[in-house]
Amino acid sequence: MVDWLVPLADLNFDGSEKEAVNAVLDSGWLAMGAGVQAFEEEFARLVGVKHAVAVTNGTVSLHLAALALGLGPGDEVIVPSLTFVATAAAILYVGATPVFADINGEQDLTISLDSIEERITDRTKAIFVMHYGGYPCDMPAVMDLAAKYGLGVVEDAAHAPGASIDGRGMGGWGHIGSFSFFPNKNLTTAEGGMVTTNDDELAEKLRRLRSHGMTTLTWDRHRGHAYSYDVVDLGYNYRMDEVRAAIGRAQLRKLPEANQRRRELTALYRELLAELAPDVTVPFQHHQGVSAAHILPILLPPGSDRIAFMERMKAERIQTSIHYPPIHTFTHYRENDQVVKVGLDNTENVAAREVTLPLYAGMGEEKVELVVRTVQQALQVVRAG
Ligand SMILES: *Cc1c(COP(=O)(O)O)cnc(C)c1O
Repeated sequence: MVDWLVPLADLNFDGSEKEAVNAVLDSGWLAMGAGVQAFEEEFARLVGVKHAVAVTNGTVSLHLAALALGLGPGDEVIVPSLTFVATAAAILYVGATPVFADINGEQDLTISLDSIEERITDRTKAIFVMHYGGYPCDMPAVMDLAAKYGLGVVEDAAHAPGASIDGRGMGGWGHIGSFSFFPNKNLTTAEGGMVTTNDDELAEKLRRLRSHGMTTLTWDRHRGHAYSYDVVDLGYNYRMDEVRAAIGRAQLRKLPEANQRRRELTALYRELLAELAPDVTVPFQHHQGVSAAHILPILLPPGSDRIAFMERMKAERIQTSIHYPPIHTFTHYRENDQVVKVGLDNTENVAAREVTLPLYAGMGEEKVELVVRTVQQALQVVRAG
């Protein structure tokens, strides 16, 4: 274990999470209580949607999105390859076929509209987009395209709680939005996730699938048998518990300020990198809307030895990462003949050069300066070597 001087990410915790957890433990009510419902209502308000459904993690929230849209065998779903593997895995869970689309380029690491349109066939049923780094995809254009071809849209907004375009939250543009509350995300509940939608029918389906496919008690009461229930779908237990919801509510109160801090630190990174390491590319210099500034991606100059660079950073106890090895290069996807994976030149160019630098709300400005100076030195060594 390296004792990092600057970790890649850090929790934004104070006493409020601990207090909230203790209150749940003292109450003795651990699941299916008022805390989850309150967290859902508060999160829906953040995103600006009618419905938010809390779940156990961001991967099952994508699974529920695919199920609720009725995707299945024979259906093609267009998805970026430059994302976490769960975005595409959710499509395979329901037996549908992922069709990988390219990103826009070195300055915009989100899915390309042209690339989406090129891949639309008679069998295309949906588009899954991902707001890379918390920077919004061009959702007005994605929704226009989807309407033209009658496609469902799922936003993987795991990086983007609190991001928006024209005041409308990311996760609230598509038919369904999906969030993750893993510890490295902007808002954490340890493990946790949320599905969002403005559609009443989709919301009911998501809630039912989250809890064993059971009809709700109110629905049963309505039908006159309040003491039993029916199971109308093959459902799951993907419910969030009260302990996690309590942590989430404490985190949610701090999110706007934490995101603002992330944006300020990102601006400082841009300024210092332009000055001290000008041949490094910092994507998203110009972007639509308000970013959640989830991570700080840079692209090394072409031909740099990325592993040597990351080793130099590690020697100075600065943690870095790669977002992401593209999904179409993973064995499980490479060897799957069903999966479509051609014409991903921008993805492959960017993915070979990308390194993620440390960024978290509690990061001091002197740490940003230290990281950038170390980047400058590491690049010199990597080039000379
Ligand atoms: C974290 C993440 C997920 C998965 O979320 P989990 O809560 O870890 O299951 C999905 N997509 C993206 C883009 C992510 O960053």
